[in-house]
Amino acid sequence: MKTVEQQVKEVIRTVPNFPSEGINFKDITPLLGQPRLAKEIVKEIVENVALWNPTCVAGIESRGFLFGFSIAAELNIPFIPIRKKGKLPMPTASTKYDLEYGMSEIEVHLDAVKPNDRVLIHDDLLATGGTALAAAELIESLNAQVVGYSFLVELGFLSGRQRLNTTTQNFHELVTY
Ligand code: AMP
Repeated sequence: MKTVEQQVKEVIRTVPNFPSEGINFKDITPLLGQPRLAKEIVKEIVENVALWNPTCVAGIESRGFLFGFSIAAELNIPFIPIRKKGKLPMPTASTKYDLEYGMSEIEVHLDAVKPNDRVLIHDDLLATGGTALAAAELIESLNAQVVGYSFLVELGFLSGRQRLNTTTQNFHELVTY
């Protein structure tokens, strides 16, 4: 009997040189075609992160929405979308951050996060950690607490985890490359 982690590694596709030369893109879309495995993934993540007592899950656009919403629903807590600039219709807080080339900006609705919320940040993949760190800054700018981070995939060789101040915050990844 294969573990969930073994099955996930078998199903995720590595696409060389996408979206640019030298990047090995981890394509999680085949997981979406396997509902039984997808349910097991959500169950396994929930078993780990429930211990941190989050009061909401913040998923990062766009692949952080795919499992993030199911994780929140399974935990019976709200899901908060963190989106690229200009996508959310109501008043927002925003944070700019550096990408490999250039800058990006992410936003969250002001009324989505309450002070004293214990927020679990979820994304499909942790690379350098810049995106997750910006999401954490955004949450903290609204006086809420980041209670931990959850990723389907961690690219361990990029040491993103070290940037996330995980001595005080919890961390869970399903598979590591
Ligand atoms: P980073 O800010 O460097 O941790 O990059 C993480 C974000 O970029 C996540 O939202 C990922 O979806 C995406 N990403 C970065 N590198 C990859 C990769 N090799 N394969 C798939 N997605 C990636």
